Formats: sequence, structure tokens, C-alpha cells
Amino acid sequence: MPDVNVQEDIQRGAYLLVIRLSRTALVRFGAKGLHRLEPGYYAYAGRASRSLPGRLNRYLAIAGGTDRSFKLRWHVDYLLAHRYASITSIWLADTNPDGECAVARRAANLVGSTTLPGRIGASDCKEGCPGHLVRLGRDLAGFGESCLFMAYTLD
Ligand SMILES: [Zn+2]
Repeated sequence: MPDVNVQEDIQRGAYLLVIRLSRTALVRFGAKGLHRLEPGYYAYAGRASRSLPGRLNRYLAIAGGTDRSFKLRWHVDYLLAHRYASITSIWLADTNPDGECAVARRAANLVGSTTLPGRIGASDCKEGCPGHLVRLGRDLAGFGESCLFMAYTLD
């Protein structure tokens, strides 16, 4: 099973998952219902107030399909659990979890990005973002310069 590379003293922060969807997929986001997602790259901005490495490893396990015992809890879980989805990289963007919305906005403002309808992934959002799950125009080259470090990359 893959493992994130996060310094042990970093236990909280705002992070960004980059997710590749290899084919068109119908994803049921819990109570938000079914959404048809086109193949390509997606970015999800989230936050952990504690146990950040455990949270990120949980995402990797769901996306990897190695452990099906996880209860799907966050909207992004439903996308990660889809067999066409994989995590290509994880960025720690800010050690302050409250930076989550700024990370979501940065991803949404990239050229070619579109935010998914229905405020998916933004249940806990306090800043009125249109959503924390964004379809990217391309893979996330360039975004990392504004992040603290890459915690994981697929290769
Ligand atoms: Zn927000």
C-alpha cells in the first residue's frame, strides 16, 4: 500500500488531492446524487484539524481499492472509490486547516478549471465556495509552486 510522505510533526493542514479519471464515470456523491464526470483531472481541497497523514493514507487506500472496509464519508470518497479514479498527487498547501477554501479557489481559478455543481465537497465550507471539487483543464503542473510540499505522487 502506498504511503504519504508527511513530516511527523505536521498533523494538521489544508491539502489538495489531484485525481485522474481514466474514463467517463457516473459517481453517486451520497445525498448529492448521481453526477456524470468526464475523463480528466480533478482537484479536491480538504482540511484536517488532526491526524493529517492518517487522513491522506485513508484516501490512498480508498483510491487504490486495496481495502474495501472503509465507510465512505466525504463526497470525494465516492469519486476515489470509483474504479476509474486514481490519485496522481497530494499537496500539502497550508499547515493551517482554515486555508482550505483558499486552496479550493486557487484550483478553481486555474485556466480551464470548472467547479462541479451542487457544492460537492464543500459541506464544511464556511466561506461560501461554489465547491471544493474542481475539474481541471489539465494535470496540475505549476500549482505546486504555491504549496508547501508534495506529500505523494503516483509513479
Ligand atoms: Zn470553501
